[in-house]
Amino acid sequence: MIALSLAEIAEVVGGQTYDIPDPSVPVTGPVVRDSREVVPGSLFVAFAGERVDGHDFAAEVVRAGAVAVLASRPVGVPAIVVEDVQGALGALARHVVRRLGATLVALTGSAGKTSTKDLIAQVLRRKAPTVFTPGSLNNEIGLPLTALTATGETRFLVLEMGARGIGHIRYLAGLTPPRIGLVLNVGTAHIGEFGGREQIALAKGELVEALPEDGTAVLNADDPLVRAMASRTKAKVLLFGESDEADVRAENVRLTDSGQPSFRLHTPSGASDVTMRLYGEHHVSNALAAAAVAHELGMSADEIALALSEAGSLSRWRMEVTERPDGVTVVNDAYNANPESMRAALRALAAMGKGRRTWAVLGKMAELGDEALAEHDAVGRLAVRLNVSKLVAVGGREAAWLQLGAYNEGSWGEESVHVSDAQAAVDLLRSELRQGDVVLVKASRSVGLESVAQALLATG
Ligand code: ATP
Ligand code: MG
Repeated sequence: MIALSLAEIAEVVGGQTYDIPDPSVPVTGPVVRDSREVVPGSLFVAFAGERVDGHDFAAEVVRAGAVAVLASRPVGVPAIVVEDVQGALGALARHVVRRLGATLVALTGSAGKTSTKDLIAQVLRRKAPTVFTPGSLNNEIGLPLTALTATGETRFLVLEMGARGIGHIRYLAGLTPPRIGLVLNVGTAHIGEFGGREQIALAKGELVEALPEDGTAVLNADDPLVRAMASRTKAKVLLFGESDEADVRAENVRLTDSGQPSFRLHTPSGASDVTMRLYGEHHVSNALAAAAVAHELGMSADEIALALSEAGSLSRWRMEVTERPDGVTVVNDAYNANPESMRAALRALAAMGKGRRTWAVLGKMAELGDEALAEHDAVGRLAVRLNVSKLVAVGGREAAWLQLGAYNEGSWGEESVHVSDAQAAVDLLRSELRQGDVVLVKASRSVGLESVAQALLATG
């Protein structure tokens, strides 16, 4: 981070200093909330969680080199004490971001935020120093912590923003005001909590409402609820998608035999061919979104196409393809699932599995509210329509719905099985897999289905 003195930090966050002999001492960073990440020069942020209270680590982090603790009570070591630690962290991020010379890019959407953020970062960093959200740290704590890792060198700051309700993105965009705001899609993720797609659109659109007049809203032309957000911003609008009206679009989209998307990228500055290393057609949309952002920041179609073609996955358990020595291919997409990503993953499986036996080991998609039954049923049906050789539905009620969908679509039983848990799925697969098979493993985060992929890879 850019160096700030303790006195300056205390002023920015409206805090009181305790046990600080010399307030002119600078924090050189990083700002961390996990005591294990403290290094000399750090500022440690003490959160009082349900199980662990950061304040208990105050003495330890100072011994490890932390300059001070940002805390909600005096802790006997150098501290800046505030009433609301989270609010103070946000205020500090806002202050630092204003002083940076970096362009802020923020993105949100129901599915693909992390994948797209990783693509954007891999494209932009070819042009200039880029800082981006690690993993999925996209909430009111992770976002400021990420922003605070930027330095005077940073030219681009790419931030994932997650929305769990109305007002959430507005708050995040207030902490780190973006100049480019990207909305990927409005799907059904968290629909149970939100109470409908229109509500989700309302919440995600807060990102483009926060943009300044000289900013750019990058919107998905293929998603009507996202497109409609054009009327909610004073910024310029740039559209991406497969639609003809899109400013940044893809032509001749196809999946290679290994399931990797390939297309001709068109941007307002030219056209160039892309063949991705990532798997699944959903990455076409993510790649176009990244291309639109990169175009807006001055990159040519050729530069963008090359970067997209070489980009890998930076975050784990998202379509991680591993071939075992015995020729069985495991596709670990167990990070998370929703109806859109289930469909995308099944189509990738079908493309990769041409001429091979394909297995879809699927578990529940969480947070679907009233649509849960219909959505699981539809995924089960799609597996049959795509000629997936065998569906293994793992878990309780939702797994039963997956299997029922497959059955109703014409699977007569052999092609779909329902097992109670991950271990049962592993046992079944261990005895049945043979050379050449491709196995997709996918469910919502809470199911923890990566254990199946890990077990299969451990025994290869
Ligand atoms: P989270 O809300 O958990 O942070 P996210 O929006 O960051 O999720 P990713 O982690 O990128 O999304 O991807 C989650 C799942 O969605 C993965 O299984 C991935 O394969 C799939 N996915 C990625 N991009 C898309 C897309 N454009 N449309 C549909 N599904 C997608
Ligand atoms: Mg994410």
